[in-house]
Amino acid sequence: GLPAVVFEKKLEKEGRTRFGMDSQALYDEIFSFGQQNKEVVRQQLERLGASCDWSRNKFTLDPDMVAIVYKTFKQLYDDGLVYRAERPVNWCIKHQTSLSDLEVKDDERTDTLYYLQYGPLTVATVRPETMFGDVAVAVHPDDSRYSSYVGKTITVMMPTGPVALPVIADEYVNPEFGTGAVKITPAHDPNDFEVARRHNLPVREAIDQYGRLTSIGGSYAGMKIAEARIAVVARLSQDGVLVKQESYAHTVKVCYKCQGIIEPRILNQWWLAMTKPSQRLGVSLRDLAVNAVKEGKVTFLTERFENQFYRWMENLRDWNLSRQIAWGITLPIWYTEDGEAIITDGREPESEHKLTRDTDVFDTWFSSGQWPFTTLGTTNEDLATFYPTTSIITGYDILFFWVSRMLMLGLYTQGQVPFKTVYLHGLVRDKDRQKMSKSKGNVINPLGIAEEYGADAIRTALLFGAAPGTDPVISDEKIRGMRNFTTKLWNIARFVRMNTEMNTKVEWLPMTDADHAVKRALDAATQQATHAIDTYNLHLALEGLYQFIWHDLADTYIEAVKEQLQQPETKLATASNLLFVLQQSIVLLHPFMPFVTEAIYQNFSWDGCLMNRPWPLEETGATRNAAQ
Ligand SMILES: [Zn+2]
Repeated sequence: GLPAVVFEKKLEKEGRTRFGMDSQALYDEIFSFGQQNKEVVRQQLERLGASCDWSRNKFTLDPDMVAIVYKTFKQLYDDGLVYRAERPVNWCIKHQTSLSDLEVKDDERTDTLYYLQYGPLTVATVRPETMFGDVAVAVHPDDSRYSSYVGKTITVMMPTGPVALPVIADEYVNPEFGTGAVKITPAHDPNDFEVARRHNLPVREAIDQYGRLTSIGGSYAGMKIAEARIAVVARLSQDGVLVKQESYAHTVKVCYKCQGIIEPRILNQWWLAMTKPSQRLGVSLRDLAVNAVKEGKVTFLTERFENQFYRWMENLRDWNLSRQIAWGITLPIWYTEDGEAIITDGREPESEHKLTRDTDVFDTWFSSGQWPFTTLGTTNEDLATFYPTTSIITGYDILFFWVSRMLMLGLYTQGQVPFKTVYLHGLVRDKDRQKMSKSKGNVINPLGIAEEYGADAIRTALLFGAAPGTDPVISDEKIRGMRNFTTKLWNIARFVRMNTEMNTKVEWLPMTDADHAVKRALDAATQQATHAIDTYNLHLALEGLYQFIWHDLADTYIEAVKEQLQQPETKLATASNLLFVLQQSIVLLHPFMPFVTEAIYQNFSWDGCLMNRPWPLEETGATRNAAQ
C-alpha cells in the first residue's frame, strides 16, 4: 500500500493524477516505482547498520508470493469461509471509483437540516432527495415518546405519492438528534445499511453511480443531487410535509482529491468469515488466534497490548477482502455470463463460455497477513527451518491490521503460530510530539542524520528512553547527546591505545581497589544488559551500558589508572586491564552502536570481526538474536 500512497504524491508533484489513468499503465508505473524505492529502502537499512540476509529479499508482488496468496484464498473458499455479499463503499462521483478509508477525509460543513412529516412522526434529515430510498423510520428502543409506534406501519407522503414504511427500534438511533426519529436509507448511508441488515430490510438505490436520481425517484429521475434536493424540498413544502428547517453544522466525508462529498454505494464484495467455524478445523479464524494467545503460545510486549488484542477480537466483524483500486493482487475470480463465480488458484478456468475476471484486488493486509510463510516459500527447506519465527517487531499501530491477521492466517495454513513474541515499539514523534508519517510529510530523513551525526547516534537516540510500546521523541538535543557518547567512546579507546603496546595482552590482572571497582561495575553492567535484552527491554540495556562507560569507566577508572600507569609495578597489569574492560565494553555495545565499536575493534587489530564475537555471558535465545 505504501508505494501507492507515495506514488500519488510523486504524480501530484508532476502535475498528474492517477484518476483517469488506464489501470494497467498505472499498475506498471507503481510497480516500477516500488522497485526503485526498494533499493533506496535497502540502502537506508544498510546505512543504519541492519544486518539482514538480503539474498532472501521479498516483494509482495513477486509471482511466487502471489501464488501462495491465491492458494490460501482458494483453501479458505473451499473451507466455506469466503463468501460474496453487498456492503457499502466510499464512492467518489467525480472520479468514478471507490476509495479506501485512508483516501477519505472529514470535512466540517454547515448544511440545512430539514424536518419532514412522516405520517404521525417528524424526522430530521440533511438529505431529503434520498427519501425515495427510505425503507423504514427508526427510533431508539428506550425512547418512550415513540414506543407505541414501534412495529407499526406509517404512511409517508413522498413527492411521488404515498409510501408505507415500518417503524423500527434500534440502538443506533441517537434520541438527542433532531426529533429522535430518523429515516433509514440503507443504500446511501453505511450506518443505515447496518440497521437494515439487522432488521432484514431491503436496500433501495435512489442515487446512481453518477450522482443522479434513479427511476424510483419518478419525475425526479435523472436529476443531479443538488438539483433534486431543491426540487424535492419545494414539493415537500407545497405538500405541507416540510415542517421546518434549520442550519446544521456536521462532519461529512469527502474525496481527498476533489473534496467532493462521498456518496456511499452498495457493491458486491468478497468477505472472509471471522467467527464462523472452519469446516476443516472446526474453529473460526478468530478463535484460532485468540486461543493461541490464551494458551501462551504468543506473548505480547507489553501486556496492555494483549488486552487490546482481546478487545478487538471480541468485536471482530467479517473482513472485506475486495478493494476497487488498481494497485494490488487481482482477485482470482471469474464470472460466467449468468454471474456465477468461479474461484481458482490464480489460473484462468477453462470454459467454453465467455468468462469475465473480477477487477477488484485484495485488501493489502490479506497478502501482508501471510508474510511469515509467503516469504519462506513452500518448496524449499526455509519454511521448515524458519517457521515459526522467534519474534515479530512492529509498530503498535498495526497490531490489529497486521499482527492479528498474521496470527489467524498463519495458524490456519501452517497449524502453528507464526511467531512466539510480539514486540510492539512506539511511533517516533518529533519534538512537538507529532507522529511522523510518510503521508503527512514530516518525516525526518535518517540518512541525513546519519551523515551529520553518524548512524550510531540516530540508532541510540531512537532507543534511549524508549520502553516497549511507548512513543520515543527524537530531537536534535538527543541526537547530539548520543553523538557525544560516540565521541566519548572513541576518546576512551584512543586513551587505551596510547597507553598500551601492540603486544599487551587482553587480560584481567587486578591489583588495585580501582581495578576491583571497575570489574564489579562491568560485571553488573554485563548482567543487567543481558537480562534486559532477554526480556526485550533493549532501552534498559543501552542505558545501563551508557552509565557504565561514561561514569564507571571514563570518569572514575580512566582517571584512577593515570596514576597506576606511571608506577612500574602496576603499569603492565593496568594496560592489560584497560584492554580487557574496553574490549568487553564494545562487545556489549556492538548491537546498539555497530559502527564505532567495530572501528575501534579493527584499530586494535584484534581477531576477526567484533560482530562475530560471542556475548560475554552464556547466550540465551533473545540475547543471541539481539546480538545478531
Ligand atoms: Zn473525487
